Amino acid sequence: MSITENLTTLKKEIPNHVTLVAVSKTKPISDLMEAYNAGQRIFGENKIQEMTEKWESMPKDIKWHMIGHVQTNKVKYMAEFVDLIHGVDSLKLLKEINKYAKKHDRVISCLLQIKIAEEDSKFGLSVQDTKTIINSQKFSELENIKIIGLMGMATFTDDTRQVKKEFQFLKSVFDDLKPLQTENCKLKTLSMGMSGDYQLAIDCGSNMVRIGSSIFGARNYD
Ligand SMILES: *Cc1c(COP(=O)(O)O)cnc(C)c1O
Repeated sequence: MSITENLTTLKKEIPNHVTLVAVSKTKPISDLMEAYNAGQRIFGENKIQEMTEKWESMPKDIKWHMIGHVQTNKVKYMAEFVDLIHGVDSLKLLKEINKYAKKHDRVISCLLQIKIAEEDSKFGLSVQDTKTIINSQKFSELENIKIIGLMGMATFTDDTRQVKKEFQFLKSVFDDLKPLQTENCKLKTLSMGMSGDYQLAIDCGSNMVRIGSSIFGARNYD
């Protein structure tokens, strides 16, 4: 199956209210261009340098999503163009994003990453830390960022019940925090679901899925 065919199939399966992020990490620009020519405009990358190189050489109507873990010292390289940062997990990182967004006279949209998996290796905030951040004075002063939603990654397992439990948990956190609206925090986006579990994620309330291998084929490395 070609990239174009994969995208066509996926678009039939994904309801209209769900945004498809095409996860193109490690893939060559020729593959991304095939997806672009098939109409795809949102791409997800997990390394800032790779995303920046692709941004520099590809059409400028592409929306670039940073889906990987972000180191504070790398924020400056993507602040000019990044459309959405999925993996925000600290106030320190929010402050850094705010600082560079301001330099470029932008407001950068972010998702807070919530830890839903049981694996220790996965990043993310606890529910309590999330509430503390959103309610803090320091956060309210960050005028060049806005939190538009939450993101989570389920445990890497074949156990569908486990994954479903984690997705349901994230949805309940999302519903719980939604009323906590502030000037720079309005939760609308729930980013959960990848190639192996996006249907389940959508059933559990996801409205943004991050899909890589089902579009571009398996990766050799991550
Ligand atoms: C790589 C990656 C994906 C996509 O994974 P696939 O299984 O290839 O669809 C989604 N989300 C994040 C955070 C990733 O790093």
